[in-house]
Amino acid sequence: MDDDDVSARKGSFRKFLEHLSGAGKAIGVLTSGGDAQGMNAAVRAVVRMGIYVGAKVYFIYEGYQGMVDGGSNIVEANWESVSSILQVGGTIIGSARCKAFRTREGRLKAAGNLVQRGITNLCVIGGDGSLTGANIFRKEWSGLLKELAENGDIDREEVQKHAYLNVVGMVGSIDNDFCGTDMTIGTDSALHRIIEVVDAIMTTAQSHQRTFVLEVMGRHCGYLALVSALACGADWVFLPESPPEEGWQENMCVKLSENRARKKRLNIIIVAEGAIDTQNKPITSEQIKELVVTQLGYDTRVTILGHVQRGGTPSAFDRILASRMGVEAVVALLQATPETPACVVSLSGNQAVRLPLVECVQMTQDVQKAMDERRFKDAVRLRGRSFESNLNTYKRLAIKMPDDQIPKSNCNVAVINVGAPAAGMNAAVRSAVRVGISEGHKMFAIYDGFEGFAKGQIKEIGWADVGGWTGQGGSILGTKRTLPGKSLEAIAEQMRTHSINALLIIGGFEAYLGLLELSAAREKHEELCVPMVMVPATVSNNVPGSDFSIGADTALNTITDTCDRIKQSASGTKRRVFIIETMGGYCGYLANMGGLAAGADAAYIFEEPFDIRDLQANVEHLTEKMKTTIQRGLVLRNESCSEHYTTDFIYHLYSEEGKGVFDCRKNVLGHMQQGGAPSPFDRNFGTKISARAMQWISTKLKEAQGKARVGLTALRSVSDRGTPLLGSRAVTRYRK
Ligand code: ATP
Repeated sequence: MDDDDVSARKGSFRKFLEHLSGAGKAIGVLTSGGDAQGMNAAVRAVVRMGIYVGAKVYFIYEGYQGMVDGGSNIVEANWESVSSILQVGGTIIGSARCKAFRTREGRLKAAGNLVQRGITNLCVIGGDGSLTGANIFRKEWSGLLKELAENGDIDREEVQKHAYLNVVGMVGSIDNDFCGTDMTIGTDSALHRIIEVVDAIMTTAQSHQRTFVLEVMGRHCGYLALVSALACGADWVFLPESPPEEGWQENMCVKLSENRARKKRLNIIIVAEGAIDTQNKPITSEQIKELVVTQLGYDTRVTILGHVQRGGTPSAFDRILASRMGVEAVVALLQATPETPACVVSLSGNQAVRLPLVECVQMTQDVQKAMDERRFKDAVRLRGRSFESNLNTYKRLAIKMPDDQIPKSNCNVAVINVGAPAAGMNAAVRSAVRVGISEGHKMFAIYDGFEGFAKGQIKEIGWADVGGWTGQGGSILGTKRTLPGKSLEAIAEQMRTHSINALLIIGGFEAYLGLLELSAAREKHEELCVPMVMVPATVSNNVPGSDFSIGADTALNTITDTCDRIKQSASGTKRRVFIIETMGGYCGYLANMGGLAAGADAAYIFEEPFDIRDLQANVEHLTEKMKTTIQRGLVLRNESCSEHYTTDFIYHLYSEEGKGVFDCRKNVLGHMQQGGAPSPFDRNFGTKISARAMQWISTKLKEAQGKARVGLTALRSVSDRGTPLLGSRAVTRYRK
């Protein structure tokens, strides 16, 4: 992106905001129903965006109860009242279930309390119950105001002035049980808690050859159970939407004993708390344990996770999701007209979108109805495409079909890791190998990147060889940054020796460039005229054409956790500014998103050129900030954001300019960003995207049957959106 693009975008955003004045408006924000990590980030975003556009924002404490009770439960918020809450789980404004709000009498009181403060914009963060309540309130609003006027509680002028109530919802629920949004606020954090426990249990279970039955939350929705099962490669999963077929008891025991026979030392069974059989009878963890003990005699333990899943600090994803949704919610309120229906801010792919609240609530209730009526296929479909694809991927990877049932493709497919290691690469390799085998291919692993390939480090890899890989960080195959350009001859030779019919490259920018080099060499080396595909895997998230790359989420969580700790270290020592350098090459993703998730004052990135005036403006901002109660500053700097304004330079500049007002510390986060166990998102993203890449390879191989060579179009970068690989012209627009 060049400078003109940046200033045009900055300018258009400013212009957009100019037309969006909140002057004279009042917004009430409340959290209702069960709490979820990330609710605070949503509250913070609503308050700050509201203030930014000139509106007044009110906290409504204790959900609808506070709205009904009024008084000190409805308090105007300021910029500082939401400082230092991003990293706090739960909700600082409290949540409750309120019987009174279910009655018209209660809602009449609530309306009176809002009118008293001039609040006609309501932002509700909660589950489907809370949003249903908000919609009923909105529909009744004019009637409630009429009644208040008749009772003499408000005058006619007030009725006219506050004639319409605008309502916007954000879904806060760890269960991800709301239709219309890909993710609800809190789900990703709950998955973090579950996976932390699974990883811990796996180490102890390995030592003793145990079976673990793990019960996770989800009374009506199996999302947490399903995604946890995918993320840890569980042996079996029980979900309310997809009950096991009749005779599951025997099938499950056969599966567990087969896995033991393959020298697998532990079995993990994941159960959603609302798991049922096809007759809608509950399947409990204890029941499953009994079955395993009596039928197989395995040492079996049950772990029920319970409220641990709601607790802890929100993940980077939830903070960012909630912040983006909060901003969008305020924009939606300000753009609402009397005709605009109540909406819910949802996530579609990577975009915050607005959907009609009533329809989403209806769809959510339809899933339950389908389950009650035992229309389980409908229930899965209604949960959405992502749920369905998670379920299909899980089934495909968990159970190996008997060899005689797999159609033979007679094709050899090789998998290679290229570039720096990224958490989730191993999950991607596991998925590729298992999907490849189930599609009838012979799978080959290439060790140590293109360098190893040229030297002949290539071996057949089987289904069981990749067992337990999902949770492991780094690259088990070994990965190198070396490009193939100088060893094309040797690589072509290896392709010929092993009769490789397709190549899957998992890696970052080097993988991308490597793929282009291989494609450019097709004219010279016939062996390279095979389907080749890359899956983006790099912490930097700098591969063109994809919103995400494997490893970026894990790195982002590491940065966010570290920033939390660094910020906390200053809680005793006031007036301190931290300069933190992140990885990312020329890509500002980590610094930018890390800044959003950790609540930084500024993030310097390569894509948004800055100069000494910007640095000076930030010093002035920090100097002002030190006069408030928040006497702490956080500045993120992407490693290659500027050749001359280095981390040291900024540190020295701030130290000098801040003399007597604040002192400075600097931290270069370095390789800790590349290490660690992959986050749930990276495990699942790696698994799903790699499965998709293998499916594409299979299609191309089928199309190519009988043809001597594959056309040049058989080259693709599988992204989260399936975007085609960009041409070399596009590459010159991106810097590594
Ligand atoms: P969770 O998913 O955590 O259960 P939820 O928002 O669905 O969250 P509920 O207990 O269903 O939780 O609803 C929370 C509150 O919303 C209720 O206590 C009540 O005050 C209000 N509410 C729910 N449904 C209605 C309704 N139909 N009419 C009026 N208010 C409602």
